[in-house]
Amino acid sequence: MFDFAVVGSGAGGSSIASLLSKKGYRVALFEKDTNLGGCSSSFKHKGYWYNTGATTLAGYEDGHVVKEVFDEIGLDPNLKESELSMEVIHKGKITKRYRELSKFVRELQKNYPSQKHEQFWNLVYRINQEFYQLKGYYYSNKNIIAKLFSLFSFLPFVIKFRKYLFISGEDFIKRCYGEVEQEYKEFLEAQVLIVAQAKLKEISFFTAAVALAYTFNKNHHVAGGFKKLFEDLTKNVESVFKNTQVLNIDKIGNYFELETAQEKFYAKKVILNSTVYQSDQLFSKKRYKEEFERYKKLDNHQGTFVVYITLKTDKKFDYHYQIIKEKCFTHAISNSVFISFSDDFKDGYVSITASTHTNYRIWYDQYQSKKEKLQGEIAQEIIQTFKLSKDEVVDLFSATPLTFKRYINREQVGGNPITMKNFLVKLPANDTHIEGLYQVGDTTFAAQGWPGVMMGVKNLARLLDV
Ligand SMILES: Cc1cc2nc3c(=O)[nH]c(=O)nc-3n(C[C@H](O)[C@H](O)[C@H](O)COP(=O)(O)OP(=O)(O)OC[C@H]3O[C@@H](n4cnc5c(N)ncnc54)[C@H](O)[C@@H]3O)c2cc1C
Repeated sequence: MFDFAVVGSGAGGSSIASLLSKKGYRVALFEKDTNLGGCSSSFKHKGYWYNTGATTLAGYEDGHVVKEVFDEIGLDPNLKESELSMEVIHKGKITKRYRELSKFVRELQKNYPSQKHEQFWNLVYRINQEFYQLKGYYYSNKNIIAKLFSLFSFLPFVIKFRKYLFISGEDFIKRCYGEVEQEYKEFLEAQVLIVAQAKLKEISFFTAAVALAYTFNKNHHVAGGFKKLFEDLTKNVESVFKNTQVLNIDKIGNYFELETAQEKFYAKKVILNSTVYQSDQLFSKKRYKEEFERYKKLDNHQGTFVVYITLKTDKKFDYHYQIIKEKCFTHAISNSVFISFSDDFKDGYVSITASTHTNYRIWYDQYQSKKEKLQGEIAQEIIQTFKLSKDEVVDLFSATPLTFKRYINREQVGGNPITMKNFLVKLPANDTHIEGLYQVGDTTFAAQGWPGVMMGVKNLARLLDV
């Protein structure tokens, strides 16, 4: 009998499995796919390695949550710091997102001149810094006492940021800048979308500020790709079962039975790293199904379309770019694409992961023709922007939300965006109403991306009292 069974090896699942193992618990980690890491995994195609989705590790620095969790686990990852978080290419203008505030503001002045930048971006910078200094949050929705306790723990946060929590990003920016130039608005929207996964009018200015400020945090990429990070992260976990999907979970007395195609496993407690929209499928008992069915209404149907390319080239590139186009890509819900180059240019080979936002329901019909169309548009954009010749492209293919579903069991990606409608009390907590059953990952508290998921891991550790 294991102390904990963790269902899913994403950023949240692997981190909590490792943290619990470090504390001496017997842990079993189950992963449906061949590779660990979910949206942050790496995979091999025709002999070339690719990052599946995530390419940047933001906030691995003192006082920030990612480092706090890794330190507690005893993980010292092999990271390379990127001085330049990304270059934004927008209608022929290139804006370098430097970490240093004054350097970045000078870039903005060059491309989107305004006298208000200094004041606005200083505020964005300050909100982000103050946010990461807040500690000791606790979030549970289990019962009324837990809810009150949660509200109490967030009181310092609400008091500190009250001016920015109840106004939309769009309205606050209008208030700061007066009339906002269309091009600058497009720049802000595209930058916010890749972090907050929502539009400025849907989120509070607080959320917008933290999203816009992510490039002021230390940004790293993982030497050797995320594959290496997950190998290191899970090496202290007693039992890691890859290619093992948990098909059904039942509670028998005070322990859980987990059924896989191969055999049954038993654990005192279970932590789900599946999305809250799909966790109901893991249970056959009505009461347990209902626990998760209520979250289906939070599913915003957002998905991703990713183009993967390997180049054989002697050209050199920075690590991350965002291209913002005039119009939305076909079969996408965004006019921008985020492009990351791999860190090792071994023997002249470099791989690219390029993603844009889509709605997963778009992919339920005319699949092949839609896929060819969008892959073609994005590949063309990359080839033109980086002045590549067709001969330099040695591998090119793409993944739709249905590909994500096939490999990592989720078509929705981007988690639960922290919109003004979907704030704290509505956000799924890391515990459930079922004794011994917990959840972690980007559809639960706190948010998507490594920093958001690690806040959930810390909160879960607190709820488990470990
Ligand atoms: C295209 C893209 C780019 C991104 N870029 C970045 C970035 O640069 N930086 C950043 O910080 N974040 C980025 N993100 C977000 C980040 O990758 C995710 O928020 C984070 O990795 C999600 O972690 P998670 O814990 O929710 O687990 P997930 O990634 O959802 O993984 C869950 C795992 O559980 C497994 N699983 C599910 N059900 C079962 C079952 N029944 N049995 C066994 N296994 C199961 C799945 O196969 C999967 O491996 C990106 C996301 C995408 C899609």
